[in-house]
Order: sequence, then C-alpha cells, then structure tokens
Amino acid sequence: MASQTLHLSWHNPVKISWGCGAFNALQFNQPLVLIADRGALGGENEKFLRGLLEDHCKSIAWFEGGLASVEKAKELCDCLWPVLDQYPDCLVLAVGGGSTLDLAKAVRFRLPSEISAEQVWRTNQLPDSFHRHPLWLIPSTAGTGSEVTPWATLWDTLAPQPQKLSWSPTNGFAERAIIDPDLSRSCPLSLSRDCALDSLAHALESLWNINRTPITEALAIEAACTVIAQLPALLHCDENYEAQTELARASLLAGLAMSQTRTALAHALSYQLTLDENLPHGHAVAVWLPMVWDIAIKSSTDCQKSLSQIFENSSDFGVTEIHQWICAVGIEPRELRTTDAGRHQLINELSSARGRNFLGTYL
Ligand SMILES: [Zn+2]
Repeated sequence: MASQTLHLSWHNPVKISWGCGAFNALQFNQPLVLIADRGALGGENEKFLRGLLEDHCKSIAWFEGGLASVEKAKELCDCLWPVLDQYPDCLVLAVGGGSTLDLAKAVRFRLPSEISAEQVWRTNQLPDSFHRHPLWLIPSTAGTGSEVTPWATLWDTLAPQPQKLSWSPTNGFAERAIIDPDLSRSCPLSLSRDCALDSLAHALESLWNINRTPITEALAIEAACTVIAQLPALLHCDENYEAQTELARASLLAGLAMSQTRTALAHALSYQLTLDENLPHGHAVAVWLPMVWDIAIKSSTDCQKSLSQIFENSSDFGVTEIHQWICAVGIEPRELRTTDAGRHQLINELSSARGRNFLGTYL
C-alpha cells in the first residue's frame, strides 16, 4: 500500500516557562522597562516584582484597562522609547491580560522619532531603520494566548471608521513567555469566564481552519475538551484551583495552535460586536461559536471528525451540545442565517482576512 507523507511546518520560537511558581522563580540580569496591568499586578505580586526588579527596572508604565488602542500604544511609546533609547539591550517586560501584552508587542519595536508609529501600525510596514528589543510576556489571565503568538490586536478607535488592526511584524514573537496559573487566581469570575471562552474559541477556530495540521488539531482538541470540562467547574466554585490551573494550560495549548493557524470566522464576526456593543472579546466571539460549528460540520468531514471528539456520544457532531454548553455558561448564541441582512454580514465576513481562514462554506 502506498504511504502518504505529510509535510508539516511549525514555527514558534517562544521559550515557555510553565507552572505554579514560575513567576516567583524569575531572575533578571539586564536593564528592563515594565508595562503592567494595574488590575492584574496588585498587592503581593507588585511588591514581589518591585523587589525582584530593583535597579534593573528603568521605568514602569501602567495600563489602566480598556482596549489596546493605537492611542494607548503611542502613549506608552512616548513614555518608554526615550528610556529604551538609552539602553539598546533593554528588555520589555509585560505583565497583564491580552491587551497589555499586545501593547508591549508594539512598544518593543522602537522607531526613529521622525517616523509616524501610527502609520507603521496601520500599514504593518516596518521602516528600514528600527530597533527590536527583547520581550518577555507574563499573562495574568488564562485566555488570550497572546504570549505565544507573534501578532497584536490594536484598535484604531480615533480613525473616521473605528476598526481593529492586526499588528503583524516579521519576527513578532516574544523571546519568553512565563505562564503561572497562580497569577490568574485573583481574576474576577466574569473575566475568567470570558478569557476561558476566548481560549475555547482559539482552539475551535484552529480546527475549522484551512491552515490546520495534525499537530494543531491535537493541541486544539485537548484545549477545547479542557475548557468544556473545567469552565463549568470554575463557575460552580470560584476557588477551584485545579480548574484554574487546567484553564491556564488550555489557554496555552490553544494559543500554540492559533500561533500556527491564526483565527477564523468567529473572530472575524466578533470585532464589530466589540466596537458596537462594547462586549468583552471572549464574550463577543463566543456568541458565534454554535453557528460557526454548525457551518463547519456541514462543510467538512475533517471538521466532523475533530469536533465529534469534543462532545463524545453526540448524535449531531456536537451541534446541540455546544449550543447548550454556551447557554449554560451564560452566553446567548447568535444566528445570522435566518435573515437577509444576517446572510449578507456572514458573506462579507467570509471574505475578510480572518474569514478566509475558515474552511467552511456558507450554507
Ligand atoms: Zn481571541
């Protein structure tokens, strides 16, 4: 019988430190600037980090929450680039949720003063001259996977038509990701839920994706099954340490899968909801998962095989179960296929950058 050879590519150079206590084990031996999420780095963690950084820390910039906007990125650059300019090997260290980490991905590419940073981010074109600083990312939530992907979401909220930008420089990966489940223990439950839903979305979006490989599929199925099992357990008891640790693991696995495939249709649909209704990202993407799941299994036998592993013993490849599960965690699924306007929106998003990664066809 003729054998079939698969040629797989995998590129993710981020050195990952994982586990409870990874944060406390950090050591620094070079100058650094810190970008920190005010909400995440409170109390003991801040005290610990300030003690650890000592003289190495040349400046601290706080992120006070909200969207990772072009405006906020510029503000951070104005504050930190003069410091980075003095220390060419200065490390950019970021501790926080996905928005904080995404902002750090913009800051670490220092640009000459005569160049408009906003224009560079909008066009995704680095000039001939720039300085790329080393970057270490420490997520304080279990969800975005930003610490292991090379891209950053920046919201262009001041543009005439507010929109979501994807900052995707060459060589955008961080040098290190430090993932310590202990850091997400103080997260409010609603934030933990939305972050876990984002992880689930990253896993599913890499399954119904034209860039999927057997490696990303294995990571994504494990991540999706973990979120499906552990998020209800966390919502039932918010001091469930095992569930928090497992959700942090799922976030990492889903992030690794997404780092190879990018996201797809549910993310494409989510961005307008975030702009129009101010829904948190995980919530905005989760409302579309049952509909996109249904389209995916109707379009692809590969998707049927993958998705049927997530809810075993399902009679319809998990369509009924994902709908019920999303409702059970407090999210109302949305459907676009029942109205002309909805179908029009769906067709539009299928031709967007993320929508084109979706391997389903509109039914
Ligand atoms: Zn996402």
